[in-house]
Amino acid sequence: MTDVAIVGAGPAGLYLAHLLDQQGISYRIFDKAQHLGTKACSGLYSPRIEEFVKLDPSWIDHRVSGALIRNNGTVIRAEKKNWHAYVVSRKKMQQGLIRQWKIPIEQKQIETLLIENNVCLKTRDETISAKLLVGADGSNSLVRRHFKVAVPETINGIIALVPETNTGDKVELWVDETLKDGFYWKIPRGKQTEYGAMGTVQFSDLEKRFNLSTYEKEAAIIPLGLIPTAFNRTLLLGDAACQVKPWSGGGVIFSFTCAKIAATTIANALAENRFDEAFLKEQYDDVWKAGVGKTINIGLLFRGLYRDASPEEITALFKALTTTDLSALDMDFPDGFGF
Ligand SMILES: Cc1cc2nc3c(=O)[nH]c(=O)nc-3n(C[C@H](O)[C@H](O)[C@H](O)COP(=O)(O)OP(=O)(O)OC[C@H]3O[C@@H](n4cnc5c(N)ncnc54)[C@H](O)[C@@H]3O)c2cc1C
Repeated sequence: MTDVAIVGAGPAGLYLAHLLDQQGISYRIFDKAQHLGTKACSGLYSPRIEEFVKLDPSWIDHRVSGALIRNNGTVIRAEKKNWHAYVVSRKKMQQGLIRQWKIPIEQKQIETLLIENNVCLKTRDETISAKLLVGADGSNSLVRRHFKVAVPETINGIIALVPETNTGDKVELWVDETLKDGFYWKIPRGKQTEYGAMGTVQFSDLEKRFNLSTYEKEAAIIPLGLIPTAFNRTLLLGDAACQVKPWSGGGVIFSFTCAKIAATTIANALAENRFDEAFLKEQYDDVWKAGVGKTINIGLLFRGLYRDASPEEITALFKALTTTDLSALDMDFPDGFGF
């Protein structure tokens, strides 16, 4: 029997596997996908990404120095001197990390689970036993559904990649009443231009907004909210745990931050032979919610206020922010919490 079974080899599952490797903890990691790294993702990361991964230069499409956030005629400039955010190819990074960290992914779909005196996972042709289970299986997590935990809100994230060279150094965002529960964006990717949106939005809206005809499509669901993430012998991690920024849909930095807490929890659980929900909640759920969770909570609060505000109130807020110095704004922890 392995110590840990990880379902999902997205960024969250991969990073956790790497941390377990470093601690000499045995694990097996499963992913149903034949080709990894194809999930919709802009790959826009603050330099904080380098606290977790060694970025290979070949994974970086481009760099930007800030964002222009537009509301009707008003523009807020969130930009930094001597600073950048990376625009990374999700596919190259995910596949590169698998090679760099030598993660032994088994291409298997977990179909059912049974959790009693240990964890028992079933694929089409195998039964796998483990002491602990980590559901890093994304926004439609089977592991989360097993515990009958509902996600408070899900929205669409859509991307249109156009083969237009774009070496601009700002991301552009459009926040206005045309998309009340989200926003549109344009990201320079060097050899490509990315147009995207999150919210209640379809590709036809994106086409109209940016006058698009031929493009490469990517789409995925973004889960939002705060949910329980520790159960008997089980942790949820990454999108499965809704560890996602409510203001941008970004989840990679949060999932890496929480994976560190999950790795410590797993080491302690194995050392103390404690796999019960109370222990895992205290070690994992309570700890990440005291950091990343606070930031998510404040983001959810602002998301609610924004949704309820009138277009006039939003325009007034934008006008006020044009004279505010946003050069110190942290794109991961704008509230100053975190770790
Ligand atoms: C349009 C869009 C743009 C985004 N842009 C950014 C961005 O710029 N920056 C950022 O930080 N985040 C961004 N995100 C969010 C980011 O992509 C996610 O937060 C991140 O992928 C979550 O990683 P994960 O490992 O938790 O889940 P995933 O990447 O979804 O990985 C889950 C894995 O689990 C596997 N799986 C699922 N079920 C099973 C099963 N039953 N058996 C075996 N395997 C299974 C899947 O095949 C998948 O590979 C964006 C999201 C969208 C939709």
